[in-house]
Amino acid sequence: MMVILLFILLLSFFHVTMIDYLYNNPTYYQLDAYTWETDDFRSMQLGELITDSPSIDYDVLTSLMVEHSYDLTKVKDLTCHTDRLMTAKPEEYRKLKQAYEMVLKDLRYFPVPDNLNPDSPPVTYENGWLDKRTYGGERGHEGCDIMGAEMPRGYYPVISITDGIIEKSGWLEKGGWRIGIRAPGGSYLYYAHLYGYSRQWQEGDVVKAGELLGFMGDTGYSAVEGTTGNFDVHLHVGIYITTDHSEELSLNPYWLLRYLEHYKLKYTY
Ligand SMILES: [Zn+2]
Repeated sequence: MMVILLFILLLSFFHVTMIDYLYNNPTYYQLDAYTWETDDFRSMQLGELITDSPSIDYDVLTSLMVEHSYDLTKVKDLTCHTDRLMTAKPEEYRKLKQAYEMVLKDLRYFPVPDNLNPDSPPVTYENGWLDKRTYGGERGHEGCDIMGAEMPRGYYPVISITDGIIEKSGWLEKGGWRIGIRAPGGSYLYYAHLYGYSRQWQEGDVVKAGELLGFMGDTGYSAVEGTTGNFDVHLHVGIYITTDHSEELSLNPYWLLRYLEHYKLKYTY
């Protein structure tokens, strides 16, 4: 009996010291100075744990991401160990937290307002990150499509998710009538396949979050300006950041849009 008790005691002692050792060992964490350039970071798997809350604690978000291998879609509680992480990898931790802040802090409104008219069908979207696309060569889908296919092109208003400066507008073969906006924190928001613009946007124009940019459409997949009808009416939303090694690194907007469900403007249209 005593032997068994002693064995259990030794085992639990070993268990506790081992866990403690791991938590304090920098190599235990999947975190380095370039984590923000990895596919793990780019997929932005915030999960409902984060998106169900109308505000984000960046220490909790960063710690949870590191502790759950950058996928919070199945995580059920907010328990995390920020202090241990900051002790083990302070610089790397700060850099990753800054990256999450850069992406999320500028996001203000869902890009398609709700319609106060109750008969209007709501838009829908799914997590289609890196789904196969074939136009212009086989590639992964680097964005999220908000579908408005039940209504004609030009029906749904598209508003700016962030404050920012217009960097690009006009025709793009893949994107059709598109608009690109640089947010204050540095991320680049890309809205594609518009039916048309709310006005003649020029490079350098200042935009406020919630400002009308244009209308949802189905333009693109052609070198011929104004081509429509090559796919269903939808808004393609893209988010890009500039990192240490990449001028333009795409992120998955899906969970960011889920978070923005808390911030939908209400229009009548
Ligand atoms: Zn798309």
